[in-house]
Amino acid sequence: MQTGRAAVTVLGLGSMGSALAGALLARGHATTVWNRSAHRAEALTERGATAAATPGEAVAASPLVIACVLDYPALHAVLDPVADSLAGRTLVNLTSGSPEQAAEAAAWARSHGADYLDGAIMTTPPGVGSPEMMFLYSGPREVFDSHRATLAALGDPLHLGTEPGLASLYDAALLGLMWAALTGWLHGTALVGAEGTPATAFTPVAIRWLSAVTGFLTTYAPQVDAGHYPGDDATVDVQIAAIDHLIHAAAARGIDNALPELLKATMERTRAAGHGSSSYAGVIEVLKATAGAR
Ligand code: NAP
Repeated sequence: MQTGRAAVTVLGLGSMGSALAGALLARGHATTVWNRSAHRAEALTERGATAAATPGEAVAASPLVIACVLDYPALHAVLDPVADSLAGRTLVNLTSGSPEQAAEAAAWARSHGADYLDGAIMTTPPGVGSPEMMFLYSGPREVFDSHRATLAALGDPLHLGTEPGLASLYDAALLGLMWAALTGWLHGTALVGAEGTPATAFTPVAIRWLSAVTGFLTTYAPQVDAGHYPGDDATVDVQIAAIDHLIHAAAARGIDNALPELLKATMERTRAAGHGSSSYAGVIEVLKATAGAR
């Protein structure tokens, strides 16, 4: 079927790579796939994908090559032997890694004559293809722009900047946010659960509270940028007193208190740094890199 959509190659057909290839097929892209374990291509060829026999054949099939394998050693295991065939093509690397690995991969791709975008997928495989889900990209703007329409088949493509490591850096920051939020929710769930409240009853209330918390983020972001944290809503001193109630309530019910103790210690360091009367945004002062520490 001729759809007029760009041809794309997907290297790596694990849970995520299979979802990526499936979303491209659903949008009508001629999609060539390759995976180390060939049997994982079968479900996609039944949907119209072309299975390549080798990574070299896969790369040669499309001007845009999307790679999504376990890690960077796997990426290089697949691509190093066929590096020269990337010349004149665009490699979009959606394999998770560090900003430094992304920067090295960008330089490696450039040295082989390929354009390179690094990416981070902010969803799990079932979310791929949804315009609600963010896909973060970093690398040359013009390369992103020329493939934007194709990348939109996977999710909402956001270009963060030209530095190749930016997508990985945001990915790490956002995963940290997710783990902190999820662990806070689970701690609260354990606390109310100790009195017989099921998670399904607590969670709608927790979600309403999270939407208030997003409002705090909006209020505090300009304070962080200005380095000035007027404590006119609630001060760090007030939060230290409040967290003692959580620690007490959890301890009385046998709930693990490592997370609140960590948070309290961080607030106390903030107070010791002279920010007891600052807003909670003042905590950034003990978190951010100090001069000479990087
Ligand atoms: P997965 O299901 O375990 O698939 C791993 C893929 O890597 C398979 O295609 C595997 O090939 C391939 N692979 C591993 N080692 C290899 C090697 N040495 N040479 C060639 N291929 C190799 O993992 P996944 O969930 O698809 O994750 C893939 C990437 O997406 C990871 O970087 C992950 O962090 C990222 N990611 C995943 C999610 C998610 O929710 N799953 C979300 C965001 C980002 P075989 O089939 O032959 O083993």
